[in-house]
Amino acid sequence: MRQFDYVRAADLGDAVRALSGGAKLLAGGTTLYDLMKLRIEQPEHIVDINHLSELKRFDTSGSSELVFGALSRMSDVAANPLLIRDYPAISESLWRAASQQLRNMASLGGNLLQRTRCPYFRGGEPYACNKREPGSGCAAIEGLDRGQALLGMSHACSAVYPGDFAIALIAFDARVDLIGPRGERTISVEQLHREPGETPHIETTLGPDEIIVRIRVPVTQLGRASTYLKIRDRESYAFALASAAVALEMDGDMVRDARVALGGLATRPWRARGTERKLIGGPLNEQTARDAGEAALEGAAPGHSNAFRIELGIRTVAEALMTARKRGLTS
Ligand code: SF4
Repeated sequence: MRQFDYVRAADLGDAVRALSGGAKLLAGGTTLYDLMKLRIEQPEHIVDINHLSELKRFDTSGSSELVFGALSRMSDVAANPLLIRDYPAISESLWRAASQQLRNMASLGGNLLQRTRCPYFRGGEPYACNKREPGSGCAAIEGLDRGQALLGMSHACSAVYPGDFAIALIAFDARVDLIGPRGERTISVEQLHREPGETPHIETTLGPDEIIVRIRVPVTQLGRASTYLKIRDRESYAFALASAAVALEMDGDMVRDARVALGGLATRPWRARGTERKLIGGPLNEQTARDAGEAALEGAAPGHSNAFRIELGIRTVAEALMTARKRGLTS
């Protein structure tokens, strides 16, 4: 087994200094330990932040925003009664992810930063992978691509962003507060993840010495008529073949405002703004929901064996819209 140093950070500044020195951050550990066992991550230094109280604030009582500290555990947030009632898409995106044991351990910050499930990335050395080893090639191009992305790919990488929570967050225009050696800054969750382009190994806009402190979601009328629909090969402990976070504000049968984001289909969390514009101001019924799904998947480029996920994505968006509509009528 490869040796590494382990330290507990005294405070956030201490953690940032450790990161600047090349350490890896330990929060819930559900991604890091996994990747260490696969020898994809082989850190020499690990800095543990699990005890830092400033990362644990979880507050849904504010009048302008919901606040989730980066160390809030997935299961605590998923089970929050206010979120279940007023922001079901957020709660559903968490409890439809992973297993109960993992949700009890995994932090929200770590959940946002989880890495791809591309089998060639996780399979290690026998496989070329530009994400794991920049410049080595991409085994997925000629390989199995049933689970690869249909949106946002480059010739260098087609790995799907595997998370669920980020999909719901971008639908609600959530932001993340970051801290690094130059102080604090805030970006939208949508700005956090990158498309692979020529540099698939650079997955986010987060600096190597920056830490997610908290996630903030603006309070919105769109929350109650929302849902996160996730379609997968089995009904639990599986990643999305297609998913959609949808939120609506309805005026009778007419859509006053709409948010649509896709998961499981793209290289990053994917906001479908064109689809939203198409929905706003019109009636929502089975046909317009189907049209919206088709608009959301416009530009999807299938490989050898993943074309079925275009139709799956269309139906996922359409069904999510009809579920959110129903919630809008009864709330
Ligand atoms: Fe690696 Fe991306 Fe190719 Fe998968 S799709 S093998 S992660 S470069």
